[in-house]
Amino acid sequence: MTKPVTRERAGLSLRDMRSRPWHSLLLIALGLSATVSASTFAQAPARDRTAHVRFLALNVAIGATASIARAVVTGAPLRTTITKGLVGGALMSTGMELIGTESPATRFAGLQLTAVGASVSRNADTGAPLLSDITLPIYPFYVRVRPGSSRPVTARLSATSAVSLASVLTGGRRPHMDWGATLATGAPVLRSPRWRLPSATCGDLCEGAFAQHSAGVIVYSASAGTDYDLRRTLAHESLHLAQQTRDAVLGGITASDAALARLGTPGRSLSRFLVVDFLMPLRLVDEADARVRGVRRRDSWYETEARAFAPGGELR
Ligand SMILES: [Zn+2]
Repeated sequence: MTKPVTRERAGLSLRDMRSRPWHSLLLIALGLSATVSASTFAQAPARDRTAHVRFLALNVAIGATASIARAVVTGAPLRTTITKGLVGGALMSTGMELIGTESPATRFAGLQLTAVGASVSRNADTGAPLLSDITLPIYPFYVRVRPGSSRPVTARLSATSAVSLASVLTGGRRPHMDWGATLATGAPVLRSPRWRLPSATCGDLCEGAFAQHSAGVIVYSASAGTDYDLRRTLAHESLHLAQQTRDAVLGGITASDAALARLGTPGRSLSRFLVVDFLMPLRLVDEADARVRGVRRRDSWYETEARAFAPGGELR
């Protein structure tokens, strides 16, 4: 005779959730990531399964590492901080998974979930509630949400994103704003009149890029639908957008605030509406890693990670 499963015997009981909330949240976040992952593989068999699992784990590790670094600086209890960092890392993985589904309907949610995960990892050393201080990207802005504070929602302009958007809009062959894709992505998406986009990292036999991401701005070429699939390509570029966001939330915004604070009162006033996000720690790691290994841009960490979630829209 089989015994009935009581709430205490279930894998995640209500008592467990009350006594160990961070462990429960970690299990929920990892379960969510696995669920999205399974459904994504059913739709996108072109992904490299080994690389994909490796980068899912890497994002969880990045969340934990960021939280450990904060705990070392602030002296916060290491165990709770690491668990919160793991929760944040699992949410970042899930956000990238949502983008990797290649559906425009989940692209915006995927970017925001990546930002929520990075925010949770960044705030892991504080005793404040999990979602008490969240940075969400609506490029070219970073929106900061602090429920219950005197200014619950504030927005600051990203300097690199503003510069990137201005240079694209004032360039020689002016692209047009694709408002539908922009709203679905959470960042400016523009259609260039060029058949292919000039690319310094494209090899000798390459005619140019289908699309490019630069500091929160995506441009795609006019050949969409003829020699590449736009939906899949925008998913790949949005993954680069998620990498940019992860970097900004985990380190870039803090670095900007610290640098501006050193300028005294004018700098602190400037930081109320501007993020000078030129120093992006993970981007520097990506560049340094590529140089040390002597690999082409296509084989760099960022490119390999982006392709592991969203391979791109090349029509094969
Ligand atoms: Zn790429």
